[in-house]
Amino acid sequence: MFCVVGEGHSIRDNRPPSVDALARRLANDVDVPHAVLVDVARRAIAEGGTHEEITVRALDVGHQLAQSLMGEVINATGVLLHTNLGRAPLAVARGGRAVNVEFDINDGSRGSRHDPIAHLIRLLTGAEAAVVVNNNAAAVLLVLAALAAGRDVAVSRGESVEIGGGFRIPDVMARSGARLVDVGTTNRTRLGDYRAAIDEPSNDVALVMRVHPSNFSIDGFVQRTAIEDLATLEVPVVADLGSGLLDNGVPWLPNDFRPVPSWLTTEPGVRQALAAGADIVTFSGDKLLGGPQCGIIAGRAELVARCAAHPLMRALRPGHHALLPLQEVLLAHLRRDVASTVPFWSMVVRTQTSLLARAAAVVDSAGIGVVERTDAVVGAGAAPDATVPSAAIAISGDHSEALRAASPLPIIARVHHGRTLIDLRAIDPADDALIVDALTALKD
Ligand SMILES: *Cc1c(COP(=O)(O)O)cnc(C)c1O
Repeated sequence: MFCVVGEGHSIRDNRPPSVDALARRLANDVDVPHAVLVDVARRAIAEGGTHEEITVRALDVGHQLAQSLMGEVINATGVLLHTNLGRAPLAVARGGRAVNVEFDINDGSRGSRHDPIAHLIRLLTGAEAAVVVNNNAAAVLLVLAALAAGRDVAVSRGESVEIGGGFRIPDVMARSGARLVDVGTTNRTRLGDYRAAIDEPSNDVALVMRVHPSNFSIDGFVQRTAIEDLATLEVPVVADLGSGLLDNGVPWLPNDFRPVPSWLTTEPGVRQALAAGADIVTFSGDKLLGGPQCGIIAGRAELVARCAAHPLMRALRPGHHALLPLQEVLLAHLRRDVASTVPFWSMVVRTQTSLLARAAAVVDSAGIGVVERTDAVVGAGAAPDATVPSAAIAISGDHSEALRAASPLPIIARVHHGRTLIDLRAIDPADDALIVDALTALKD
């Protein structure tokens, strides 16, 4: 491609800005490193145009680039564990020092990255042993690889599910080296169906696996086989619980929170699944546990040890960036102060009355919007049918773009039937002032 400078135009008018001058100009408005702005400037200049056009385009690209970086946001969606917003939020403040991940301070010898956390999980759930990996998908993969590679795993057709993000039970099964044996039907699977699969001479069933459907539910003529019943079979029972509620009696919540809402009491608890006879359970760290992204394998010591000793463990083990916050969250459950120290549990215990009062105060200060009762949802595939009573500030029109551009923190709101809803349940009260500022700015 070549350009011809037309007669009559002075060379000077058409000369593009220098890369360096444009990058410096961008630095006034876009807070990213100079090297990034140089790249933006270079590409904008290469696309040609007048000085003005190039600058406007470069600013646009620069802004988009800065906005595309990860950072903290205000979750006003009313989805408590929003997968796109990182599921469970966590406050992590650290001193930048080393961490004794595998060093025993008692005697100065090499320690285990698993033992201290496993001890806390034992206390909270009654499990004999536990081991932590990078996420629950990894936990399921490791359990299948360690306990059933080259053998069969019986799964109900009603639980051969896709959880989201490409996590499909048949695919994970295939990758683990285990073979899936479909049992029962989509809507009804009985104990006898599992027993028949185990007794079938051409099968070599190593495990029965139960998968929590997590993000959908089937109603009507439906029958699942309880863990208690599966535990009467002669092969180990693995329950992929997903949501990671340690105990559905939620003993870590304050007494004034009782009675506990049914969306919590009907989630499968880790303690209850183990007590019912599950030999192994797997669950996420960043769903109802409210911790960092990780996956936990808990249950019978001999089976957990086989998972921990599998070569894949080395590829799936988390670092202190996950283990330390996980330990914090587990300690908070034991101290029973999650409601004030773990952000997810703070969201859970807020009363609708307090949220309505906060919404009214925001509307009052900002001079825009109306208070509205809403239904928040848990999200992340936990409690798919449940809603949690909440409160929002409602404004007519779609203001989602302006709110995303809010400074210092983007506000991620929900737009419903031509109105913008800022749901307060997932928002820390300390951020209400930022909501007021952003809403006040909408009026201009
Ligand atoms: C969420 C979930 C998973 C995947 O867990 P990640 O932590 O996202 O890897 C697997 N199984 C079930 C039942 C789930 O709910």
